[in-house]
Amino acid sequence: MKPWDSLSADEIALLQAIFWSGSHSRSSLSERLGYSKSKCNSLVSGLLDMGVLQENGLRTSTGGRRPESIQLSPQLGVLIGVDLGATRLDVAVMQPDLTVLARHTEPADVLAGPAVVLARLRTVMRQLLNQAGAQASKVIAIGMGVPGPVDFESAQLVNPPLMPDWDGFSIRDYLHKEFGAPVFVDNDVNLMALGELWLLQGKLKNFLVIKVGTGIGCGIVCHGQVYRGANGSAGDVGHICVDTSGPRCHCGNAGCVEAMAAAPAIVRQARLAAESGESAFLAASLASKGQINLEDVAQASRNGDTAVNQIIQDAGSLIGQMLASVVNFFNPSHVFIGGGLTRIGPLLLAAVRQSVYQRSLALSTRHLEIQYTPLAERAGVVGAVTLAMQETLRVRKDR
Ligand SMILES: [Zn+2]
Repeated sequence: MKPWDSLSADEIALLQAIFWSGSHSRSSLSERLGYSKSKCNSLVSGLLDMGVLQENGLRTSTGGRRPESIQLSPQLGVLIGVDLGATRLDVAVMQPDLTVLARHTEPADVLAGPAVVLARLRTVMRQLLNQAGAQASKVIAIGMGVPGPVDFESAQLVNPPLMPDWDGFSIRDYLHKEFGAPVFVDNDVNLMALGELWLLQGKLKNFLVIKVGTGIGCGIVCHGQVYRGANGSAGDVGHICVDTSGPRCHCGNAGCVEAMAAAPAIVRQARLAAESGESAFLAASLASKGQINLEDVAQASRNGDTAVNQIIQDAGSLIGQMLASVVNFFNPSHVFIGGGLTRIGPLLLAAVRQSVYQRSLALSTRHLEIQYTPLAERAGVVGAVTLAMQETLRVRKDR
């Protein structure tokens, strides 16, 4: 039996408050939860005795007595977060307060199908648990993000365009069989949004996270919660049309922003610039390596290559065109841009900003901030672990 299997709803609410705010003093906890000081103190003492919470020494206070801060105890076990992108796998083992114990990233190809990718994932997870000094029985829960539309309740991918072989495959059953822990699966960009929400400790209530990598997707935080829509496909902005005479997208339509401004489109245009000699730098890269990748594009941009910077400018402008509609519709306070394409550097962000501010209504952009994601490449894996912990606590509270 796990230490928290017998906890009351009040005790779980206290753990949720601590999880979402890092650590807390007893007095700030009672304020936050609306519990009396004596009720809060007795709950905390009980949980300290059970080893569910731990005290973390003294923390600086504004004066008077210095209260100890209370944290979730590492004795609870570990969480595993998995961020599977179309081309990259990122796995981490963390403590319940999201301290990273072990992390590994490597290239991956979701087109290889679930059998190959998940067998490799299983191996990586076991190695990381080993490295973290934790046994499989200590895994509290597993959270995993995947680059496609997920039906959140069944944890299954539904017609994922970037990973057709995964349609209807149960990642939850596969990993549950391996580790015996609850498994929660969501779309990768929803998890990036959840990760940023955790980092911001709920201080921002309405924001968007746009992932630009092999595809383009949007995580929506509305009233402090990740909004998934009626069927879990909210935020599928990659297939918003930005040019009716644009190239055909893998979804079958023409001129989707994903087909024109995501990483493969940029690399394709960069290759053309190399072949035509418009970009001397890329022509040299192509001649020496026989191919062009995103890193070459980023390097060319840093070198001030005019042709490459025009490609980036155009892509950023199209992403901004799509975003302007979304911003007018949703009126977020912040838009965070993440994903592999951010490695290209500041020029992309500048082009997106310019395009959004030009096209959005004054009232929606008056206080709008557009930045790269604060968690950068860790957003997905932090979000996956946040999902695992959040759902573990929610399930126990609702019981
Ligand atoms: Zn499309």
